[in-house]
Amino acid sequence: MTDDPIPETLVRRTAWPASVSRSVGTPLQTSVVYASADPDELDAQYGGKVEGYTYAREGHPNADVLARKIDALEGAPSAGGGGIIVGSGMAAVSATVLGLVRKGDHVVAGAQLYGRSLKLLTHDLPRFGASATLADPTDAASFAAAIRPETKLILIEIVSNPTLRVADAPGIIAAARARGVKVAVDNTFTTPRGFRPFDEGADIVIHSVTKMLAGHADVTLGYVAARDPADRAAIREFAVTTGMTGSPFDCWQAERGLYSFHLRYDRSEENARALADHLASLPGIRRVVYPTHPSHPDHNRALALLGRRGGHMLSFELEGGRAAANALTRAMPGIAFAPTLGDIGTTLSHPASSSHRNVPEADRLAQGITEGFFRISVGVEDIGLLRRDFSRGVAAAHAVSR
Ligand SMILES: *Cc1c(COP(=O)(O)O)cnc(C)c1O
Repeated sequence: MTDDPIPETLVRRTAWPASVSRSVGTPLQTSVVYASADPDELDAQYGGKVEGYTYAREGHPNADVLARKIDALEGAPSAGGGGIIVGSGMAAVSATVLGLVRKGDHVVAGAQLYGRSLKLLTHDLPRFGASATLADPTDAASFAAAIRPETKLILIEIVSNPTLRVADAPGIIAAARARGVKVAVDNTFTTPRGFRPFDEGADIVIHSVTKMLAGHADVTLGYVAARDPADRAAIREFAVTTGMTGSPFDCWQAERGLYSFHLRYDRSEENARALADHLASLPGIRRVVYPTHPSHPDHNRALALLGRRGGHMLSFELEGGRAAANALTRAMPGIAFAPTLGDIGTTLSHPASSSHRNVPEADRLAQGITEGFFRISVGVEDIGLLRRDFSRGVAAAHAVSR
């Protein structure tokens, strides 16, 4: 076939065109493998003598570009290489816990952590011969009392989901330090704009980048950074071995989302504060939960820990049961009724039918999660639009509950 018009070299890889000018947008690097000049060069790279990528599961440029930006937001230590990007927030939690904990070790964790984190600690950790005790994060003494000689790690969130209780982070970190236990903070809810765990003495910071950092409900990614380079290396090794890598496209997309993180966060927070006041004024609302609102059970701690940064999450309880809850979501179709948070637009979730459906009813009610309880992830919309939507929804619910 000498007259075949397809050149024999077609599948040979082409060098990227040279240019003295550089791209302004971050390039999307989807290559899984990287070619070296010779075995000496590859050897030097694997030996850590020179910097270079080898295989995407081990690391790729789009993950590193994203990680360095989150490092800057969190004030993460650069020793050992900075934060690590993985494929989801749960990958970050799993890599941290399973990368650091050995057989016989013990973890103390907040009793109201993200549901899958609780599942990992109570269901999976015992399969590896380790165990976890859950404690009340608003009470540092209960954490101190739960620490044992074999306790290796403490895992907390600053603001709990969905009841928005505020952890006594300084008290828990002090108790952990006194006993030589490392503290990991899942900072997804609070974000580095509300609280910076490393500044307060935490050892490890975890994010579901999926939420507010990426901010557009179109990527799933996680981040973890550690103060101690040995912890960082253990977490990274576990993540690479178990294949937790995030895709270049997701990292590229998340980086673009991150450009506007501070603008989205500030606007969402301003909206959340105003919407909390608006909801509190409506008939048919039993209570509004917002950390910096004077009615919040941890109001003083919220002010001390978060300053005026109450965040973008807000919860409320309607009078009435499931029928009132159904009427509310149906009367406000413009607000996505979806079990996520941190999107640029407002989303609404109903824990009793979603995130907390498997929590025994008595425990749910003890936390105040009734059929009328909703959580709002407030977005950047015009506040007038949000007030109108929620007025309509709450009025429809009130009409059913009377
Ligand atoms: C969503 C979330 C996670 C899990 O993140 P994914 O990206 O969905 O895996 C972990 N912790 C908190 C606090 C979350 O809100």
